Formats: sequence, structure tokens, C-alpha cells
Amino acid sequence: MRSFGADTRLPTLAVVLDIIRERGAVSRVELADATGLTQATMTHAVRKLTALGLVHEVGTAPANRGTPRRLIGIREDACYMVGVQLDQFSAVGVVVDLAGRVVVRRDTPGSGMRPLASVVADLAELVRTVLDEASVPPHKVLGIGLATYGSQDREAGIVITPHPTAEWLGYPLAETLAAATGLPVALENDATAAGLGVQTAGGSGSSFAVVFMSGGIGGGVILDGHPYRGVTSNGVELGHISVDALGEPCACGNRGCLDPAAGPRVVVEQALEDPALAARLGLGADTLTDFNRIGRAAREGDAEAAALVAASAQRLAVATVSMVNMFDVGRVVLAGHAFAETGRAYRDVLQEVLHRSVYMRHVHTVEVDLAEDVTQAAAVGGAAVVLRNLLESPNPELRGVAADAEAGV
Ligand SMILES: [Zn+2]
Repeated sequence: MRSFGADTRLPTLAVVLDIIRERGAVSRVELADATGLTQATMTHAVRKLTALGLVHEVGTAPANRGTPRRLIGIREDACYMVGVQLDQFSAVGVVVDLAGRVVVRRDTPGSGMRPLASVVADLAELVRTVLDEASVPPHKVLGIGLATYGSQDREAGIVITPHPTAEWLGYPLAETLAAATGLPVALENDATAAGLGVQTAGGSGSSFAVVFMSGGIGGGVILDGHPYRGVTSNGVELGHISVDALGEPCACGNRGCLDPAAGPRVVVEQALEDPALAARLGLGADTLTDFNRIGRAAREGDAEAAALVAASAQRLAVATVSMVNMFDVGRVVLAGHAFAETGRAYRDVLQEVLHRSVYMRHVHTVEVDLAEDVTQAAAVGGAAVVLRNLLESPNPELRGVAADAEAGV
């Protein structure tokens, strides 16, 4: 059961829309039960979503007494959102419909060390490609959600990280991509986006944590259907939880951080220290490619590769216990390109450690799962952010979508 406070304003719309999407066709009474909202509030929310052109009546269901209940459903092709996940080693673009289905997906190389102008040009090309292939009417495309790593000023659309090059620090990424594509761009933390992507895929409940691992390690938390944002949307920085109070100083200012102790970069460095292992595994590409080669070798029985993955997983598990202890979630979902080959190995270690070490284990279990598609969750979540931001704005309007709904197209 989702719990809500008395505030029934617009953030509610996103959650109500999520439930309608999950259930397919649902009555107002069922919606009120599922959300804990009053009938009057639910009626108001459904009316608003109908006026926006996002939901409609799809039939009736028999009631115990009185008139049949009218069922509400999603207008699946009412609108589309573009989601892009970007880091140094990977980029994924998707077009997602209102039902949460991925209509088109394309993968391209990540930013590498290239100048940002060229990275943005490639992202704009990726967006054009997925929209061309999806061939959806332009007025139905609400915008782009860009999921990426590092500190961000989400409101201003600015990335605040000196990685992979100093040019990223303070770069107006959202504005520049918007100018290059003619679409509004929302910036989102990739781990949080992965959480929203997992939520879009359904089945993970309304409260869970995400461990996101691609070039580095990140964390995200979804509580009662909403991302936990902290003061500036830079919370749950799992990669910079200390797993060793006396460990090496980290560039972030902390000591013994998880990411430099256990992230893909250090696992690859450790493998490269052994020339025989590096040669056997064919290492020498970029960090993510090499990490996935180590993961594949581990899966196929290479003992040394497996030991490196296991050591990383143990440290990640320790930090994940801290995250679970702080947020009291019942589920942890793994997402990100670095789990493409190693997902099961990390999941098994995390599950075993969480069963043994989580503070509230006598109250409830904590399950560890892999996202349905670990390499796609953040991009799908980026798309979800576009709609969520709109529904959370003070007076959401979707003129073209609403006009289509009115005209029955
Ligand atoms: Zn750190």
C-alpha cells in the first residue's frame, strides 16, 4: 500500500498515472484504495489526467450494488518521451510510449574524452535517429530526459563534475542539447533514472533502492513511488560511502570510498597488474569493455577473474547494507552496463550479505534483483522523468495531446 500525506496536489498525478499504467484498467474506487487518497481527491486527479489527454474511460466493471464502475486506462500512444543515458563509456537512446514500452532503442559510444560540443552533437544525432525510427508525430514528443553521472544542478540542467575532462564542470548540458534538438531537456542522475526505469517496467513495488554501476558506482532510492531527492537531487551517493575509515583519501574529500575501492575502474586496474591475466582476458580497451571481459571470464570459470569480481562485490555489499539500513527498503535492484556480464555474481553476493547483515532482517527480508534490462533502465527512466517533471509542474498543460484526445485520435 502506498502512503501519502494530506497534500494531494500535483505530485500525486505521476503516482496515480503509474498505478493506472500498472493495472491496465482500474476504477476510481480501486485507485483510491491503492493510494490511500480520498474519493474526491482521486476524482480530481483522474479529471486532470483526462483533461491532459493521458487517460480515458475504457469500459465498465460490475459493482456489488448500484451503477457499474467506470474503468480508467492509459491512452498508450497519447505521447512519447525520449530517454538518453550517457557516461564516458556508453550511451543509450530510447523512445518510450505512455504505457512505458520501449518503441525504439539505439546504442552509441559514450563521451570518451572528446570535446563536449562533439558529444552533444552525437547525442542530438542519437535523438534524431531514435525519433526517425519511431516515426511518431512530432507534436506528441514531450521532450528528452538525459540521465548521466556526477554532481548536477538538476533545475538548471548543469553538470558539475570534472570527469572525464575539466570542460564538464559547470557545462549547461541540458540547454545545449535542447538547442541542438529543438526539444526541452531534463537532466537526471543516472542511478535515480534507473530507479524510475525499473518502476516503469513494473513489478518492483513502490519503495526500493538501486545500485547503479557503469563507469562508476551510484545509488538511488524510490520511496512511495517518488525518487528520494535530498536537498539538491545529489543524494544516495553510494560510490562515496566509506567502506574503510582508514582507507586512501578520495578525490571527493572522503576517505576509503567504495568507488575507488571496488568500482569497475579499480577492478580493471587490478587485472592489468597481472600481465598474464590481462593477456588471457584480452584487456586493453576502455574501462567498461575491459570490466565486462573480466566479468565474462569470471562467469565462464576463470578463477582469477572471479576473485576480482568477488572482492568488488563484497565491498559493494557492505555499502549496500548501509544504504538499506538507512532507508529500510525491502528490495534492491541492480542496473547499469557494468552488470551486463557480472549481474548474477554481484546479485548473489549482495543477497547473501544482506540476508546476514541488514539491521531489520528479523522484521522483513531484503530481496536483490537485476533490472529487467540492466543496460536500458536508466535511459527508460530518463524518458519517465520528462513526464514526471511535467506532472509535477504547477500547472501542467499538454495542448497537442489534449486536442488529440478531444478529437479521438
Ligand atoms: Zn569519494
